[in-house]
Amino acid sequence: MVTAIVLAAGIGSRMKSEKAKQFLEVAGHEVLYYSLRAFNEHPEVDAIVLVTKKEFVKHCRKDLVERYQFTKVQNICIGGKERYDSVYQGLSMIDAEGENNIVLIHDGARPFVTAEMISNSIACARECGGCTVGVPAKDTIKIVDADHYGVETPERRFVYQIQTPQTFQVSLLRCAYETMYEAKRNGNTHNITDDTMLVEQYAGIHCKVVEGAYENIKITTPEDLAIAEIFVEKTLKKI
Ligand code: C5P
Repeated sequence: MVTAIVLAAGIGSRMKSEKAKQFLEVAGHEVLYYSLRAFNEHPEVDAIVLVTKKEFVKHCRKDLVERYQFTKVQNICIGGKERYDSVYQGLSMIDAEGENNIVLIHDGARPFVTAEMISNSIACARECGGCTVGVPAKDTIKIVDADHYGVETPERRFVYQIQTPQTFQVSLLRCAYETMYEAKRNGNTHNITDDTMLVEQYAGIHCKVVEGAYENIKITTPEDLAIAEIFVEKTLKKI
């Protein structure tokens, strides 16, 4: 069983728009439409759990899932305060029993995920437990201290920009989440920005990076929308 959790419970404050970024339009469709379509059409994906805010549930059901017959969407559930809380809500809808159950976590605000990324991620997670899509950093990346002085410059060939989907064996991801929430209850919290980080810290697993694409952007700030219009022509028309 392969399930995709598509996250759409953020408010997107960096977009400075009244609408959350996943519902803004690019080339005639909402950003979330493209993300859902990619998973709904993928032959290896059995089910989709869509995570959103309470006030967006009706819109998601009527104007996206029903209108475009995204029949693999089995659940629309309510997200949480942090991104990882939203993932956990989605995860609690999934059956962890089967040994080979796989879950893909995807930012609904990333419309240019391709069928190839999804297939490669599923194969890689089956083999090594967990993986993420990513691309080699184009720029040199510098780690700085609190006063903005450079303290480390990792060799660029080892530096990747991390995207989604991030894909795991369900039992492994669930176990990492239980351990993280336990640590949080004990006051040991970390700033968790993605699921590979969580699995590395709380399940001790090294996640592999599979090939993403520079087009696989997360719509975050206003200029991303203009770029996305160009990418629709180039990427999505091919799907
Ligand atoms: O805010 P950020 O850019 O990290 O959001 C990445 C994705 O996670 C977006 O698709 C957003 O809707 C989702 N998200 C969520 N629940 C949150 C925060 C973000 O589902 N609490």
